[in-house]
Amino acid sequence: MHAVQTRMRLTTAPISARTLCKLGLNFRFVLLLAWLTLLPTCVRFPQNAQTRMASLSLIKKEAHASMRSVPLATRQATAPLHFGNDWHLPIQYVKGVGPRRAALFDLLGVQTLYDLLHFVPFRYEDRTVLKKVAALCPGATQTLLANVCAVSLSQTPRKKMSIVQLTVSDGTGMLRAAWFHQPYLKDVFKKGSAVMLSGPVVENAYHGALEMTNPQYEMLDAGDEPIHVGRIVPIYHETKGLASRAIRTLMWHALDAHATTLPAILPDEILQRHPVSLSDALHAAHFPKAGSDLSLWNTGRSPAHRRLAFDELFLLQTGLALRKHGAIEKATGILFNVADEMLTPLRRRIPFSLTRAQERVLSEIKRDMAAPTPMSRLVQGDVGCGKTHVALMAATLAMGNGYQAALMAPTEILAEQHALSLKDDLAAIGKTVMVLTGDMKKGEKEAALARIAAGEVHLVIGTHALIQQGVQFKNLGLVVVDEQHKFGVLQRARLAQKGIAPDMLIMTATPIPRTLALTLYGDLNLSVIDEMPPGRMPIRTKLFSEKQQGDAYQCLEREMRAGRQCYVVCPLVEASEKRDLAAVCDQARRLAEVVFPNRRIGLLHGRMTREEKETTMRRFKAGQIDLLVATTVVEVGIDVPNATAMLVEHAERFGLSQLHQLRGRIGRGAHAAFCCLVYHYPLSDEAKRRLAAMAEHTDGFRIAEIDLQIRGPGEFFGTRQSGIPPLRVADLVRDADLLESAREAAFTWVARDPDLAQPASRPLRTFLEGKWGGTLSTLMMG
Ligand code: ADP
Ligand code: MG
Repeated sequence: MHAVQTRMRLTTAPISARTLCKLGLNFRFVLLLAWLTLLPTCVRFPQNAQTRMASLSLIKKEAHASMRSVPLATRQATAPLHFGNDWHLPIQYVKGVGPRRAALFDLLGVQTLYDLLHFVPFRYEDRTVLKKVAALCPGATQTLLANVCAVSLSQTPRKKMSIVQLTVSDGTGMLRAAWFHQPYLKDVFKKGSAVMLSGPVVENAYHGALEMTNPQYEMLDAGDEPIHVGRIVPIYHETKGLASRAIRTLMWHALDAHATTLPAILPDEILQRHPVSLSDALHAAHFPKAGSDLSLWNTGRSPAHRRLAFDELFLLQTGLALRKHGAIEKATGILFNVADEMLTPLRRRIPFSLTRAQERVLSEIKRDMAAPTPMSRLVQGDVGCGKTHVALMAATLAMGNGYQAALMAPTEILAEQHALSLKDDLAAIGKTVMVLTGDMKKGEKEAALARIAAGEVHLVIGTHALIQQGVQFKNLGLVVVDEQHKFGVLQRARLAQKGIAPDMLIMTATPIPRTLALTLYGDLNLSVIDEMPPGRMPIRTKLFSEKQQGDAYQCLEREMRAGRQCYVVCPLVEASEKRDLAAVCDQARRLAEVVFPNRRIGLLHGRMTREEKETTMRRFKAGQIDLLVATTVVEVGIDVPNATAMLVEHAERFGLSQLHQLRGRIGRGAHAAFCCLVYHYPLSDEAKRRLAAMAEHTDGFRIAEIDLQIRGPGEFFGTRQSGIPPLRVADLVRDADLLESAREAAFTWVARDPDLAQPASRPLRTFLEGKWGGTLSTLMMG
């Protein structure tokens, strides 16, 4: 236990304090920890006290200070002792780094030699083509090799600016170069020696001679290979005190010293599929050979990048595979009887038959439920594809086996909705359902808890109140988590603890691109409902500027005249919640009094009491409300098939996935649906892209992919899910194909050698133990 705690402390350290503050101390924080124990990017946990100090010093400022007082010679002598695997060598021991620069690298997320070598440039510049002075032309960036004729340092009279002026010659002509604010350069350039210069060439306004200002430079000794000019050079992200040029020099020497001697990481057998060796890939990713197609390098698509990205994804997926084998597959679950006859009464009651996709996913679920290991399955399906009924079938099976089932929904409104729609079906098969929410009165809640504990309630539906302490089940057999994107991993795990080892079914309508799903939920099995119930009409989406709002209202009026119902959704942003809420109420009043005086208008927002919300929802469902003005509380799950139109106010303020979720409220019945997105100026570029994507696409997976492209994987889930481990080389969008193949390879490998005990797994095992700072067995215990 102690060791685990220490490890947690160590592993959290490399995340910046900023990130932690942003997360706050609530479950997000713990969620992050949970992820980090799974995939920490920490240094190895050294056994020996001296080296432990050394690795801690990377993390703790005080330690940095104490290290500085250690004489250099001693430090270097103690350095390469026991890092087991050289990849995990703290970078302060890499030649030319030292504690001061190590602290700066830390800001860039670079702590070990592995991190350093995988800190790939964000772009490259081709400085290979050498021009003669006589052939230079003004305007373009050019590179030349010449001899130093003269160097001088001067000051501008008034501005006190230092200028170093250099005159060079290559036999075809002379060229002057100047640097501002870098007086030390005077001693860098030695008269008579060779120098390479690279930069834009300009024509002097007075005398017309060609000049360079602040060019890139490099002094060359005979036989030197140039690093900064005369080749394709890498440009790195910088931080204050650590310039791209310095990183380039370090990287050159680090590659030279380590790249060819570092131990292998991936099993040979897997490497055989790759044409590029790791050492070559590292070299080429930093210093591409002359003539390389830089369009590939600059976009991270070079063979070198792809090799490194594959390795990175393979390691990530190996972590998930190990976790799955250790934490999930070894646990014993319930062996459910899944005979389809148990579902017959339910099938008879439902007015439709399941789609092929629903049936396929149901059979995947059945297979899991019948297996001796607990189910851990993620069901993805676009809004309206009918996930609820699939979950209901699974719950019915669990209940038919004499177990209780729990359904966790992200909002109370949705929990009530589920209960409302399932109650009759369940009553018909002799099962009781109950809703458990946070705002129940004390007495009411106690009675409910007692009935759940006694096993009198067969299906419990609730919000996160379900995972609070005090909720005891008699025999929980199945947990369904609806709209998983609203929950953290931790909440999922907590609910699971309520049963012995209940089967878990996680449903998400946020159509996470497959690549992200594999990363985020890589330890789950994935089912996709990729088909809509028959007869669905496509939803048309149209953009309206604020000036055209009247036209949008006319669309709603048309629908209502035809007997349909509508939503008007207003934004509610936490930061300005009071003002927004007032705006929603005003809007409802205005619509009722001015715009649609003859229509019945309802209002729904999160601040209303449970009874008020329930009454409004019931009336809307029953058709007693024509138009529902709401905040995003209607985002998920609400199912009113007669509602065919939606108007979103300030659509530019919504995220893409949120807009898609909202739009999913309509188009659930047999009538064509219409979505009006009303936007206000000013519009950011991103907002424009979001709105355009909504107007063009209805497929949730496509929209999620665009969302991922616009926001990048880190932002995709907001801070809520920021536990995605940082990827240094790989890009989940660009390298989707690599992720698939890496996952396949990793899962196959781990299935064959779940403890990584075979000799062929040794390099992988050694590397991972070093990376995670513990033994595989602790990792695999989850
Ligand atoms: P979601 O996947 O968004 O949770 P729901 O389960 O709420 O979707 O289903 C959306 C609507 O489709 C509901 O009104 C439901 O009754 C209906 N539905 C579900 N499955 C089918 C089917 N196979 N055929 C026809 N309608 C269906
Ligand atoms: Mg749903």
